[in-house]
Amino acid sequence: MSNPSLIDRFGRHVDYIRISVTDRCDFRCVYCMAEEMSFVPRPQVLSLEEIELTAQAFVALGVKKIRLTGGEPLVRRGIVSLCQRLSALEGLDELVMTTNGSQLPKLAGALSGAGVKRLNISLDSLRADRFTALTRTGRLDQVVAGIDAACAAGFKRIKLNAVIMKGRNDDEVLDLVEFARERNLDISFIEEMPLGVIREHDREESYCSSEEVRDLIQQRYALLDSTLLTAGPSRYYQMADSASRIGFISPHSHNFCHACNRVRLTAEGRLLLCLGNEHSFDLRALLRAPGFAPAQLEPAIRKAMDLKPEKHEFDLSGEPQILRFMNMTGG
Ligand code: SAM
Ligand code: SF4
Repeated sequence: MSNPSLIDRFGRHVDYIRISVTDRCDFRCVYCMAEEMSFVPRPQVLSLEEIELTAQAFVALGVKKIRLTGGEPLVRRGIVSLCQRLSALEGLDELVMTTNGSQLPKLAGALSGAGVKRLNISLDSLRADRFTALTRTGRLDQVVAGIDAACAAGFKRIKLNAVIMKGRNDDEVLDLVEFARERNLDISFIEEMPLGVIREHDREESYCSSEEVRDLIQQRYALLDSTLLTAGPSRYYQMADSASRIGFISPHSHNFCHACNRVRLTAEGRLLLCLGNEHSFDLRALLRAPGFAPAQLEPAIRKAMDLKPEKHEFDLSGEPQILRFMNMTGG
């Protein structure tokens, strides 16, 4: 039998895929989207069956973890049954999801029942007016209700994600930490990435480094270096007096490319080999080619690994080099 592992040209072992199940979303977060967005026409988005076939091939090639994301994964119709089918794939260790939380009041229990093990829930502010300003359409009470529903639904672990921007929400870092501690949740602070052209703010001006955020937290809490190894780019700290862990995702100030173990599938079926580069392989073209047979997926995916670049470079000055928005990429 051939070796099922996916190894790229730099010897990195890929065992994690993030799948964007839709580029659509009920929010329009200022760092993620422009106010007026055009979305991919529905026929161009992968069907649930196409997503499942692709996921199956990745798992057969040794992928152990799948994260469903978007856009907002919970606005995709049929998402719960997709979760049921993916979580049952033999060889997969974990099915997890990143969500904005707005649909969790109604879906948290069903997702947990469908085999989703862990959730990342985005939360950038605890002030209702500011939350709505940052998400343009979101309601804080709905998302907090979603977080509470998730806490009650029995997930193995829940992590909050907060993008911190100078002058927008950097004064809420400690409040967000408190909120996480009260509920025994983990929380990661994310540096904004220059994906897609936005006019709402100047990314160079609003850039807030993970180091600044960590300094703020350390003014109140002791952070212990955690030896925790995750499959992600987060660096984690344990809190001395709480089960909550604090993570930092620092694509600018801390380059994590050497340990990159992941690839991404966009909503329209483009296999992206790197978040910060355009190298990709069109899996939808293969899936929809006349005479397509599922057996063609594995060799194509294996070959696509040669396209994975060594690293990303982000530059906040000037126009972004990566024109796709984060909702396309599958954050
Ligand atoms: N809609 C879901 C959500 O918001 O959690 C999942 C998709 S969203 C694109 C995934 C994560 O990417 C969120 O935590 C969001 O805050 C983050 N994100 C979006 N645009 C970003 C950007 N330009 N820089 C850094 N993080 C970003
Ligand atoms: Fe939607 Fe998530 Fe992007 Fe916000 S970050 S606009 S919730 S996809």
